[in-house]
Amino acid sequence: MKDVTPRLKIENITRSFSGRRVVDDVSLSVMPGQVTCLLGPSGCGKSTTLRIIAGVDMQDSGRIWVDGRLVCDTVTRVPPEGRSVGLMFQDFALFPHLTVAGNVAFGLKGPKAAQRARVEELLERVALGRYIDAYPHELSGGEQQRVALARALAPRPKVMLMDEPFSGLDNRLRDGIRDDTLLILKEEGTAVLLVTHEPEEAMRMADEIALMRGGRIVQQGAPYNIYNAPVDKAAAAFFSDINVIEGVVQGALTETAFGQFLAPGVADGTPVDIVIRPQHVRIDFDRGGRGPLPTAVDGTPARATVERARFIGKESLVEFRLDYDGSLMTATVPSVFLPKKGTPLWLMIRRERCFVFPRRSAA
Ligand code: ADP
Repeated sequence: MKDVTPRLKIENITRSFSGRRVVDDVSLSVMPGQVTCLLGPSGCGKSTTLRIIAGVDMQDSGRIWVDGRLVCDTVTRVPPEGRSVGLMFQDFALFPHLTVAGNVAFGLKGPKAAQRARVEELLERVALGRYIDAYPHELSGGEQQRVALARALAPRPKVMLMDEPFSGLDNRLRDGIRDDTLLILKEEGTAVLLVTHEPEEAMRMADEIALMRGGRIVQQGAPYNIYNAPVDKAAAAFFSDINVIEGVVQGALTETAFGQFLAPGVADGTPVDIVIRPQHVRIDFDRGGRGPLPTAVDGTPARATVERARFIGKESLVEFRLDYDGSLMTATVPSVFLPKKGTPLWLMIRRERCFVFPRRSAA
């Protein structure tokens, strides 16, 4: 039968420092073998949430369960070492005076022979068997990271908490180590809660993303859904550059350079932002002065002139000024496309990729 008990469940966690609510009513669950990323800008309360789950900080209210066992509410408080929770932080410092084997065995109890067997098994798993008697300073950064992973996994934690664990690593090493780490954690069936401020890292690692802002989880779901159905403009902007087309609603519609957009249920006179990512803005190269009629999906094309074009590696970023209202819009074009400033072109936008949000005041 499928195990349906979450490995980690937190409910209504709040924490204030000097009267300021830093973690505000946060709830989430992580299933066995699942990786959930707590993603958000610096200072939004991610690490504090993780520290509370680890037991090194204490919530003001809310409950925490590990594998169905209540480990912390305002009455019960299991100490960190009793929670079956492993930790991996950016600063994963190994003990310099202990060998690799000594480091990995550090948190283990029980007979020496069983400990040794577990250490050997884990070092094989992270492909470091031959370094069992080496000292940390003899290893590269990536190898030390793998020892840290083996050390965190050794006591078979039910939950692994990781706080920006890869940010100290060389860019070229990172992707490989991230993928290897993920594979090992999945094989062990450990539930992972990983904190990061980098959307690419979350998209790459997570089965589920919990997007956090100002102490709250504002959206939670599979990376694909979070990316393709953001709850608001800020959620969209967190993952990529965005274009914002401003409009005002009249009769559940708003008029733009690209024709009318539906804004169902939005009151007349409400300002709205229509958000579209640059990769969903198309240049209509087929259209000369006249050209074919637009398709229903792409809507009305809009005339624009090139302001600036830059090649940024795999693609080019072209910034346009719309004839309609003089506003700016950026499109990404695969490969090299560097038209001169002032070149007139037609733009189309993928309507199903546009998000219409009532505008919030800046306050
Ligand atoms: P993140 O991990 O998302 O960058 P943190 O959880 O580290 O954010 O911090 C959230 C907010 O709480 C920050 O404004 C930080 O300064 C504040 N904070 C964290 N720990 C403490 C503490 N022990 N005392 C006072 N303020 C704290």
